[in-house]
Amino acid sequence: MKVYLDYAATTPLDPRVLDAMKPYFYKKFGNSMSLHSWGREAKQALEDARETVAKFMNAKTEEIIFTGSATESINSVLKGIAFANKEKGKHIITSSIEHHAVLESCKWLEKQGFEITYLPVDKYGFIDLEKLKASIRNDTVLVSIMHANNEIGTIEPIEEIGKICKEKGVLFHTDAVQSFGKIPIDVNKMNIDLLSISAHKFYGPKGVGATFIRKGTKIEPLLHGGGHEFGLRSSTENVAGAVGLAEAVRLRKKEMRPEEKKLTKLRDYLIKNILKIENSHLNGHPVKRLSNNANFWFAFIEGEALVIQLDSYGIAASTGSACSSSTLEPSHVLMAIGLKHEEAHGSLRISLGKYTKKSEIDYTIKVLPKVVENLRKISPFKGKWK
Ligand code: PLP
Repeated sequence: MKVYLDYAATTPLDPRVLDAMKPYFYKKFGNSMSLHSWGREAKQALEDARETVAKFMNAKTEEIIFTGSATESINSVLKGIAFANKEKGKHIITSSIEHHAVLESCKWLEKQGFEITYLPVDKYGFIDLEKLKASIRNDTVLVSIMHANNEIGTIEPIEEIGKICKEKGVLFHTDAVQSFGKIPIDVNKMNIDLLSISAHKFYGPKGVGATFIRKGTKIEPLLHGGGHEFGLRSSTENVAGAVGLAEAVRLRKKEMRPEEKKLTKLRDYLIKNILKIENSHLNGHPVKRLSNNANFWFAFIEGEALVIQLDSYGIAASTGSACSSSTLEPSHVLMAIGLKHEEAHGSLRISLGKYTKKSEIDYTIKVLPKVVENLRKISPFKGKWK
């Protein structure tokens, strides 16, 4: 049996999205900047796509900029706002559990002379709103707090954060990569000034993302060139990609609510059964989390070993341990919520999606306890650490 439970890493393209994109690769291949009919056709498709994305989050059409990814969107926002507003100040606030796209951009900005405050989080991964308020200074130009965490699924109180930023007159950016298309987002109701998304996280194509930039926001472009995307992101537009992203958004509109219900049930069923394993723990909040996210830590074992063993049973999941890093640093998110090194190393993220079946969760519930037990038998940690 092959079971894909890594939807937080990426999702398969919905076949209907592919169908919508296809013509824009060959028949309707024009450059959206050209004046002839091929160009106009591409431009129309691009603007229709922009409108669909804008409406979904209650933004204006001209407030949506297509990008090559969420990473690009996040880099453009953080660097673009920092450089455009440095006369006002050079202070930015973010959280300690952001995605690396945010954290590494912040580190780079620190090297350029900007000052970053990294807000701590509680044991569930929530930022403290009072600490946020207290951290905002006269020279603060941006607050960037993610909507939902990619590892533990915690959903931050975005509306309250937006309200605080608005009251204090500071721009607010949210990395909505994991939440967009799963939970409703209204940029006006939530007082969001800037927002980043990535199509491949909601059944759209890889290599295309978007940024919402509230009208009138002072921002420097990252890419200079032919002046595409209102001068904010030069380079010939990926029309097929934008059409795909928009089609994925259109489908989310219809499918988001019923899917949330189905996944919440499946997720809770999975969590209930996995927690029957001795010395297993849930990371993140029991209910204020994404409907598709479950994250555990198991005493005495390594997350990487778990992922490899599960893979041998055909199950795809992921771990918060840094398998690609030679330093073997555990996940910064799990450390920030207070786990010890060895606890964070024993973590496993299981993320569900629209194609997940109950039979697949049953199979996982059957396999995982066996895998944990086998790994514990050979664990060098057992006995040394309790
Ligand atoms: N932000 C979050 C919360 C993510 O989960 C990801 C991807 O995993 C990104 C940003 C970066 O997205 P992309 O790799 O599509 O640029």
